[in-house]
Amino acid sequence: MSQFSAGMQNPVLAGLGMQDLLVDLVNALSAVKQLSEIDYQVDDEKSLIRQALASLIQYQDMERCSFFILDDGGLLTNIVGISIDELNEAKIDNPAPLRFKIGEGLIGAAAASGILQHCQNCRDDQRFEKIANPKQTPGSVISVPVFTLNRNLIGVLNVSHPEVNFFTEWHIRLLEVYKNILGQLITTRRLVQHMEQQIASRTAELESLVAETNQLKDHFASMSMHDQLTGLHNRRFFYDQVEVVIAHHKRYKNSFCLLVMDIDHFKVINDRFGHLFGDQVLIGVANALKRQVRSSDILVRFGGEEFVAIFTNTRGDNGKTFAERIRQEIKSLQWFVDEEPVNLTMSIGLYCLNCDMYAPQQIPDIDQMINYADNALYKAKENGRDQTVVFDGSGLEAG
Ligand code: GH3
Ligand code: MG
Ligand code: MG
Repeated sequence: MSQFSAGMQNPVLAGLGMQDLLVDLVNALSAVKQLSEIDYQVDDEKSLIRQALASLIQYQDMERCSFFILDDGGLLTNIVGISIDELNEAKIDNPAPLRFKIGEGLIGAAAASGILQHCQNCRDDQRFEKIANPKQTPGSVISVPVFTLNRNLIGVLNVSHPEVNFFTEWHIRLLEVYKNILGQLITTRRLVQHMEQQIASRTAELESLVAETNQLKDHFASMSMHDQLTGLHNRRFFYDQVEVVIAHHKRYKNSFCLLVMDIDHFKVINDRFGHLFGDQVLIGVANALKRQVRSSDILVRFGGEEFVAIFTNTRGDNGKTFAERIRQEIKSLQWFVDEEPVNLTMSIGLYCLNCDMYAPQQIPDIDQMINYADNALYKAKENGRDQTVVFDGSGLEAG
């Protein structure tokens, strides 16, 4: 153990035999210091162990260091092997895939006993018979078990030298300290890795929860804007959207028409054929209405058997034509109950806001407009139903 000794001869100390001891001590401390400086956040455990072995071999004149990790199958598997020559030539060593069972050979004995094993003359030791080429059998070997902080076996650190009886008490003490620090280093890395994995999986869980919550939020937002029976938008959606239509009208003078549509004598249908059949009729009417309006129009189930639509960019004359088309379409629908045909009619009240009717500040608000259309609808009912009545601002006009 004297790599550090060149140029450090002190005649007094040398005379006392202290010189070598001090050099050994400094080398040992350097190895431990380098070990303590290894960053445990390296990519994998193998590179961490490789760095640790390099620090050991660099400051000690051990010939070869290797590490046998306890794998999932309970075998001690050689994952890193490094010799002083390889280190100097910066050569990466691919260790032979040597494996030992617990209790097998010197390495297995270290793992089984939990105690450092020292073989001073390996060439005469039958535990080394596993090495195929006897020329490769080292002279001396020390195998030290390495544990986690809570005493679980990580693997076995193995150091060797070609000379027999090479290792001293000094080496043994150093390796006892060394394996403790190495065990702590590997434990810390495993804990940090485990924590990072947990954080990553919790983060993924949270992200999927957030995505699910957003989906739910969208679902409820959509539910709150839709009528569950017919799938049409509802009254809430209407009030939301109509603001945009009125703002457009004020700004660009776009004409639009508001329709309030009510099924005639719907109560009779419920009374005669039942509420469930009544529901099917409402769905059929809603689908027919959907077919009649453009995607830029607004169509909602306002409540009960009453529907409201806004024809955007539509003047009164066209509005009435479109309303009549709807009325005819509804009239043409037919259902059958026990082969008895069921038909219905619809009354429509229409209010149209043509582009030049009002100065912006005089434009009625939406509730007033609905009121006007309702008045027209009332008139249509009063006049015998199955018709469209237009409210033109000055009086009621039958159509
Ligand atoms: P009118 O020609 O004057 O409009 O007569 P009507 O019978 O259509 O009007 P009324 O307001 O008297 O009756 C409306 C009926 O619509 C009463 C109610 O039970 C029914 N109704 C409201 N909502 C639903 C629903 O979701 N499903 C069913 N099946 N019926 C409904
Ligand atoms: Mg009705
Ligand atoms: Mg009604």
